[in-house]
Amino acid sequence: MTIRPALALVAHDKKKDDLVAFAVSHQNKLAEFDLYATGTTGSRILAAAPDLPVTRLKSGPLGGDQQIGALIAEGRVKGLIFFVDPLTPMPHDVDVKALMRLGALYDIPMALNRATADLLIAHPDAFLQTT
Ligand code: PGA
Repeated sequence: MTIRPALALVAHDKKKDDLVAFAVSHQNKLAEFDLYATGTTGSRILAAAPDLPVTRLKSGPLGGDQQIGALIAEGRVKGLIFFVDPLTPMPHDVDVKALMRLGALYDIPMALNRATADLLIAHPDAFLQTT
Protein backbone atom coordinates (compact mmCIF):
# COMPACT_ATOMS: atom_id res chain seq x y z
CA MET A 1 0.00 0.00 0.00
CA THR A 2 1.33 3.41 -0.94
CA ILE A 3 1.23 6.05 1.76
CA ARG A 4 0.18 9.34 0.25
CA PRO A 5 1.69 12.65 1.38
CA ALA A 6 -0.30 14.34 4.10
CA LEU A 7 -1.39 17.90 4.82
CA ALA A 8 -2.81 19.31 8.03
CA LEU A 9 -5.79 21.65 8.15
CA VAL A 10 -6.61 23.78 11.19
CA ALA A 11 -8.71 26.89 11.72
CA HIS A 12 -9.51 28.94 14.77
CA ASP A 13 -13.23 29.39 15.39
CA LYS A 14 -13.67 32.73 13.62
CA LYS A 15 -11.73 31.41 10.61
CA LYS A 16 -13.51 28.07 10.22
CA ASP A 17 -15.98 29.38 7.63
CA ASP A 18 -13.01 30.58 5.55
CA LEU A 19 -11.24 27.24 5.79
CA VAL A 20 -14.38 25.30 4.87
CA ALA A 21 -14.83 27.57 1.83
CA PHE A 22 -11.17 26.99 0.92
CA ALA A 23 -11.53 23.21 1.28
CA VAL A 24 -14.69 23.10 -0.81
CA SER A 25 -13.25 25.24 -3.59
CA HIS A 26 -10.03 23.19 -3.74
CA GLN A 27 -11.55 19.76 -3.10
CA ASN A 28 -10.00 18.13 -6.13
CA LYS A 29 -6.46 19.15 -5.25
CA LEU A 30 -6.86 18.42 -1.55
CA ALA A 31 -8.19 14.94 -2.36
CA GLU A 32 -4.74 14.04 -3.69
CA PHE A 33 -3.41 14.15 -0.11
CA ASP A 34 -4.24 12.43 3.12
CA LEU A 35 -5.60 15.15 5.35
CA TYR A 36 -5.31 15.55 9.11
CA ALA A 37 -7.42 18.13 10.92
CA THR A 38 -8.04 19.19 14.47
CA GLY A 39 -11.39 17.95 15.79
CA THR A 40 -13.86 20.73 15.17
CA THR A 41 -12.17 21.90 12.00
CA GLY A 42 -12.29 18.33 10.67
CA SER A 43 -15.99 17.98 11.46
CA ARG A 44 -16.79 21.21 9.67
CA ILE A 45 -14.79 20.20 6.59
CA LEU A 46 -16.34 16.74 6.44
CA ALA A 47 -19.84 18.21 6.76
CA ALA A 48 -19.20 20.34 3.68
CA ALA A 49 -17.00 17.94 1.69
CA PRO A 50 -17.70 14.39 2.94
CA ASP A 51 -15.54 12.71 0.31
CA LEU A 52 -12.30 14.35 1.45
CA PRO A 53 -9.95 11.90 3.21
CA VAL A 54 -9.85 13.74 6.53
CA THR A 55 -8.58 12.10 9.71
CA ARG A 56 -9.86 14.01 12.73
CA LEU A 57 -7.49 14.44 15.65
CA LYS A 58 -8.31 15.95 19.04
CA SER A 59 -9.67 19.45 19.21
CA GLY A 60 -6.90 22.06 19.18
CA PRO A 61 -7.29 23.19 22.81
CA LEU A 62 -7.31 19.53 23.91
CA GLY A 63 -4.05 18.61 22.20
CA GLY A 64 -4.88 18.48 18.49
CA ASP A 65 -2.31 21.12 17.59
CA GLN A 66 0.33 19.10 19.40
CA GLN A 67 -0.72 15.95 17.58
CA ILE A 68 -0.20 17.74 14.28
CA GLY A 69 3.17 18.99 15.50
CA ALA A 70 4.17 15.40 16.21
CA LEU A 71 3.13 14.35 12.70
CA ILE A 72 5.31 17.14 11.27
CA ALA A 73 8.27 16.04 13.41
CA GLU A 74 7.81 12.45 12.20
CA GLY A 75 7.81 13.61 8.58
CA ARG A 76 4.26 12.45 7.97
CA VAL A 77 2.67 15.87 7.49
CA LYS A 78 4.33 17.75 4.63
CA GLY A 79 2.34 20.97 4.76
CA LEU A 80 0.24 23.01 7.18
CA ILE A 81 -2.75 25.14 6.33
CA PHE A 82 -3.70 26.92 9.52
CA PHE A 83 -6.13 29.84 9.35
CA VAL A 84 -5.30 31.71 12.52
CA ASP A 85 -7.43 34.32 14.26
CA PRO A 86 -5.03 37.16 15.10
CA LEU A 87 -7.62 39.12 17.11
CA THR A 88 -8.74 36.62 19.76
CA PRO A 89 -6.71 35.43 22.77
CA MET A 90 -6.45 31.61 22.82
CA PRO A 91 -6.15 29.42 25.92
CA HIS A 92 -3.89 27.12 23.91
CA ASP A 93 -1.69 29.88 22.52
CA VAL A 94 1.45 28.01 23.56
CA ASP A 95 0.34 24.98 21.52
CA VAL A 96 -0.30 27.18 18.48
CA LYS A 97 3.14 28.72 18.84
CA ALA A 98 4.72 25.28 19.22
CA LEU A 99 2.99 24.07 16.06
CA MET A 100 4.26 27.02 14.05
CA ARG A 101 7.71 26.51 15.50
CA LEU A 102 7.81 22.91 14.27
CA GLY A 103 6.53 23.97 10.86
CA ALA A 104 9.40 26.45 10.65
CA LEU A 105 11.93 23.98 12.06
CA TYR A 106 11.08 21.25 9.58
CA ASP A 107 10.77 23.79 6.77
CA ILE A 108 7.38 22.68 5.52
CA PRO A 109 5.16 24.98 3.45
CA MET A 110 2.90 26.66 5.99
CA ALA A 111 -0.04 28.92 5.12
CA LEU A 112 -1.46 30.96 7.96
CA ASN A 113 -4.12 32.74 5.91
CA ARG A 114 -6.31 32.26 2.84
CA ALA A 115 -4.12 34.32 0.52
CA THR A 116 -1.09 32.11 1.13
CA ALA A 117 -3.12 28.90 1.13
CA ASP A 118 -4.50 29.77 -2.32
CA LEU A 119 -0.95 30.30 -3.58
CA LEU A 120 0.28 26.99 -2.16
CA ILE A 121 -2.60 24.86 -3.34
CA ALA A 122 -2.14 26.24 -6.84
CA HIS A 123 1.24 24.46 -6.75
CA PRO A 124 0.60 21.25 -4.81
CA ASP A 125 4.05 19.89 -5.78
CA ALA A 126 5.43 22.46 -3.31
CA PHE A 127 4.25 20.15 -0.52
CA LEU A 128 6.38 17.28 -1.82
CA GLN A 129 9.72 19.04 -1.89
CA THR A 130 10.40 19.03 1.83
CA THR A 131 12.73 16.48 3.38
P1 PGA B 1 -10.51 22.83 16.52
O1 PGA B 1 -9.07 23.27 16.96
O2 PGA B 1 -10.48 22.52 15.08
O3 PGA B 1 -10.84 21.60 17.33
O4 PGA B 1 -11.43 23.97 16.85
C1 PGA B 1 -8.41 24.30 16.28
C2 PGA B 1 -7.63 25.17 17.21
O5 PGA B 1 -8.26 25.99 17.87
O6 PGA B 1 -6.40 25.06 17.31
